Amino acid sequence: MKVRVDAAACVGHGRCYVLAPEVYEDDARGHCVVTKPDVPRELEPKARLGAQNCPEQALHLDDGDVG
Ligand code: SF4
Repeated sequence: MKVRVDAAACVGHGRCYVLAPEVYEDDARGHCVVTKPDVPRELEPKARLGAQNCPEQALHLDDGDVG
């Protein structure tokens, strides 16, 4: 799985990196930085949790094999 942040959509609520610090962290402005853009299988649930809780839908997951 891959995950990326739409920097234009992220406003820095911080829910992603609070819920899933294994995958996301904050930059100097509190906006999201994806630390594991190629998400290891064991962290996929955390990546998904962060994305699902982003109020701006700024996090985009790509499962690769699903259309
Ligand atoms: S939860 Fe969404 S808007 Fe908030 S910091 Fe994370 S990506 Fe940005």
